[in-house]
Amino acid sequence: MQRTLSIVKPDGVARGVIGEVVKRLEANDLKVLAMKMIHMTKAQAEGFYAVHRERPFFHSLTDFMSSGPVVVMVLEGENAIPRYRELMGATDFKAAAEGTIRRDFATDIEKNIVHGSDSAETAAIEIGYFFNAFEINPR
Ligand code: ADP
Ligand code: MG
Repeated sequence: MQRTLSIVKPDGVARGVIGEVVKRLEANDLKVLAMKMIHMTKAQAEGFYAVHRERPFFHSLTDFMSSGPVVVMVLEGENAIPRYRELMGATDFKAAAEGTIRRDFATDIEKNIVHGSDSAETAAIEIGYFFNAFEINPR
C-alpha cells in the first residue's frame, strides 16, 4: 500500500472538474483519506515546489498555483503513486495518453489540472506539507 498527494490545481477548480477527478480516483481504487480546499500564498506555493526553484518556469508556476483555490487530497491504494500518475497522464497534455485526466482537461503544459507525487519519498514530504496526522483518516 502507498499514499500519495493529489492536488486539483486552480485551473481544475475553476473549470469545475473536482468531481470528475475524484470520480476517476475512486473508480480506480484510490481511497481519499484526507481532502481540503485551500488558497496558497505565493510563498506557500514556492515552498511546495522548492525542488523546481532553478527551473525557468518556477515563477510562473508558483504564480499560477497561488492564483486561486486548490483541492489537496491524500490518496491510498496498492501502488498508489505510479497508478495515480498513470491516471493523470504526462506533464504536457499533448503527450498524455488518451483517457488521462490531463489529456481530457488540461489546456497548457503549466495549467495541467492535477498534481501527483512522483516517489514515496516526495509523497511523504508533500503529504506532511499540507496535512497533520489528525487530518488523515485511515479506512
Ligand atoms: P509533473 O507535475 O508531471 O510531476 P513536473 O514535476 O516536471 O511535472 O513539473 C511540475 C509542474 O510544473 C507541472 O505539473 C507543470 O504545471 C509545470 N511545468 C512543468 N514543465 C513545464 C514547462 N516546461 N513549462 C511550464 N510549466 C511547466
Ligand atoms: Mg512533479
